[in-house]
Amino acid sequence: MADSDSFAAGATFVDGDYVPIGRAAVSVLYWGFTKSDVTYDVVHVWRGAFFRLDDHLARFARSMAALRMTIPHDAGQQARILAGCVQRAGLADAYVAMVATRGVPLFGMPRRPSLMTNRYIAYAIPWIDVIPVPVQERGAHLIVASTPRIPSESVDPTVRNYHWGDLVQAMFEAEAAGADNAVLLDRDGHVTEGPGFNVFAVRDGVVLSPDRGALEGVTRQTVIDICAELGLELRIGPMTRADLYEADEIFTSTTAGGVMPAARIDGRILSNDRPGPVSRRIRETYWAWHEEGRHLTPVAGLV
Ligand code: PLP
Repeated sequence: MADSDSFAAGATFVDGDYVPIGRAAVSVLYWGFTKSDVTYDVVHVWRGAFFRLDDHLARFARSMAALRMTIPHDAGQQARILAGCVQRAGLADAYVAMVATRGVPLFGMPRRPSLMTNRYIAYAIPWIDVIPVPVQERGAHLIVASTPRIPSESVDPTVRNYHWGDLVQAMFEAEAAGADNAVLLDRDGHVTEGPGFNVFAVRDGVVLSPDRGALEGVTRQTVIDICAELGLELRIGPMTRADLYEADEIFTSTTAGGVMPAARIDGRILSNDRPGPVSRRIRETYWAWHEEGRHLTPVAGLV
């Protein structure tokens, strides 16, 4: 385990300087910290190259615009800063985050978010799988959480955010049930997403994904692209708990792990308690696209 005071444990860009992740400090008064007034994005680096970097930067820009935040770095500069974090950490496989926080109200200033100077932070840390690889290979055991997803009208899930109270509760529910992770419904009973991933079902060879209540995941988009290339029928529409219970297969998707098959939902066994054939094919294709160099942007000076 790398010493967290060294760059090997991760590198952060904060207030214009690169520092080891264990030494990075931000104000305790940041609204990003006290009010979740923050947006972020995460891109992965795989064997020394970013995957779909432009899509992550574009979504980050949309999220900042939605929250009326501006930062002093354009997309090209951000790409260089993110690469700078990865290079300093020397990580061939990394979880790379970019964060914009509202900032802090200056002393004597009216308490208006529009007057605050937004802050930008970036960091690279070793690769994270939100569902561990052995669990992905066995097929995750999921539950449908009783905690509903926070309403989209209150917190727009397409704008990446730190409002994780419901998602964290759902993780506790999964743990209490002896499961690996959870899927949340909205208050009308529609499937949304899970703590850090989008959700798909497969029924009679058709791939289904919810049309609401979820982040428009970059990995989800890759799954959509893979379905088009493999000639798999895809339907994006409202989904309920019944669609999960009646599915032949379920899988989840995220930058922090890729395409992650499930084998159980609320104790019901899917595809012989193993990742199903369609999920496996999509997962294999996802990694094959990496091997083929699709959507990759190499980080100079690595591998
Ligand atoms: N949904 C939530 C709540 C997430 O936090 C994430 C990613 O971490 C996703 C979905 C998947 O998005 P992406 O594929 O862009 O990583």
